[in-house]
Amino acid sequence: MTKILISGSSPPVQREFHGKVGLVTGAASGIGRAAANAFAEEGACVVISDVDSAGAEETLRQISAKGGEALFVRADVSKSREVSDLVEQTVKKFGRLDFAYNNAGIEGKLSPTADVTEENWDRVMAVNLKGVWLCLKHEIPQMLKQGRGAIVNAASVTGIVGFRGLSAYAASKGGIIGLTKVAALEYAKSGIRVNAVCPGLIRTPMTMRRTGGSPKVEAELVGMEPIGRMGAPEEVAKAVVWLCSSRASFVTGQAIPVDGGWTSQ
Ligand code: NAP
Repeated sequence: MTKILISGSSPPVQREFHGKVGLVTGAASGIGRAAANAFAEEGACVVISDVDSAGAEETLRQISAKGGEALFVRADVSKSREVSDLVEQTVKKFGRLDFAYNNAGIEGKLSPTADVTEENWDRVMAVNLKGVWLCLKHEIPQMLKQGRGAIVNAASVTGIVGFRGLSAYAASKGGIIGLTKVAALEYAKSGIRVNAVCPGLIRTPMTMRRTGGSPKVEAELVGMEPIGRMGAPEEVAKAVVWLCSSRASFVTGQAIPVDGGWTSQ
């Protein structure tokens, strides 16, 4: 992996992803935005994708303001044609795809399992589980051509332990962990590593929708976190960057909790 040393008055900084190209879905908000910024800070050219164009433009602006290079491609991850175009446009613009963070996801409506509507179930599965599969389906062939690549999928602690009211979401996240392990085995000898992160409670717009701005609900949720606080999106982004880096060269097929101890209870 190419690394350059930037020297100046401050100590030399290693830019792990200089010359590399990364793709982040759901990059208009929350953890995806933090990951896109983190990749750019490590020197990567970043393709930002989302259905929220205004939010994606803001991520683009943040990266440009720091001197980074980024491209926005609007894509709904539940639509095969749009995901295929996303990878195509990435390669057209930057010539390659070195790593991807398949992060786009929705929480769906909260209700006990027997009250979940078929419509809610189908939508959550389409975006979260089919969306990650479609990303893998279109990213992997490009990485195979290059002989290497690293992919991280956004799962959740709810894919590992139960959480009342989130059956469709939890099933989709558990599915992502299974998908991650299978893809990791299939492409391990082809130079492609596939892992997942399982965030705990992270302070993002998704979590804020859950609390509805109520300090009481927020305190209840934080009370479930052994570490006693919500995580920051940047704390998940650091794990994603590490998993995509050469520092994680022997790590594949793992679903790594970044959860303040949530899954240790
Ligand atoms: P977020 O703030 O809601 O950001 C998710 C982004 O994905 C939004 O910009 C959203 O756009 C976009 N999106 C939704 N549907 C899409 C689709 N079909 N195609 C492309 N983009 C789409 O959520 P977050 O909290 O950062 O979560 C990011 C990921 O981490 C998700 O997969 C989530 O399940 C997972 N996660 C989050 C937490 C947490 O505590 N926050 C914990 C565990 C796992 P719109 O806003 O327009 O819908």
